[in-house]
Amino acid sequence: MKEVHKGAILVLSGPSGAGKSTIIQEAAKEIGEYYFSISTTTRSPRVGEEDGKDYFFVSKESFEKDIKAGNFLEYAEVHGNYYGTSLKPVREALREGKLVIFDIDVQGHRLVREKMNDITTSAFITPPTLKELEVRLRARSTDDESVVLQRIENAKEEIRAVGEYDFTIINDMIDDAVGEFVIVAKAARLKQSQEDEEKFIQQWLG
Ligand code: 5GP
Repeated sequence: MKEVHKGAILVLSGPSGAGKSTIIQEAAKEIGEYYFSISTTTRSPRVGEEDGKDYFFVSKESFEKDIKAGNFLEYAEVHGNYYGTSLKPVREALREGKLVIFDIDVQGHRLVREKMNDITTSAFITPPTLKELEVRLRARSTDDESVVLQRIENAKEEIRAVGEYDFTIINDMIDDAVGEFVIVAKAARLKQSQEDEEKFIQQWLG
């Protein structure tokens, strides 16, 4: 019945510094073919970040033009900057039956749920405590103190949405977190849309 499986969405949220990108990278070989949705943002690139790889870095004007044109599946303002997911590449990847992974904030997760709930699975990824998050953000030292403080304040708010997610992954020991993520990604792939479910039932009935 493999042909009735279309694409699926896996939304990952959690504070900056939770280790989301590392977890995805480490798990990549084990989760099969996927498409990582590259977001568009108006924030400046951090040291080592590349345009078109980590984000599409654009001006505020350009972002607002895309909002007006309806080019975003979802977008939100986080830490005073815009972040958004472009609709077109996501649609294509879904049509190709891929698992589409989003790294978006809690507002974005709510919007994706509104629009594509039946094919969406979600996980909130976080260090074990706020204290540990602070240690990691400072160790990363790619942001100055005011940015770190803003991220911490944001994290205190975001953690309140943890109950809205299907799964929570606590990134204490990285290997364990990667193992859990692989399980979640595999489960996400098995999620069928209601439309596909109908097809499945018809085929099953023969
Ligand atoms: P950072 O500046 O650390 O890369 O990301 C800051 C926050 O923005 C993170 O919580 C990240 O998940 C979120 N974010 C990144 N891209 C998007 C997006 O396209 N949409 C939404 N809603 N949030 C995003």
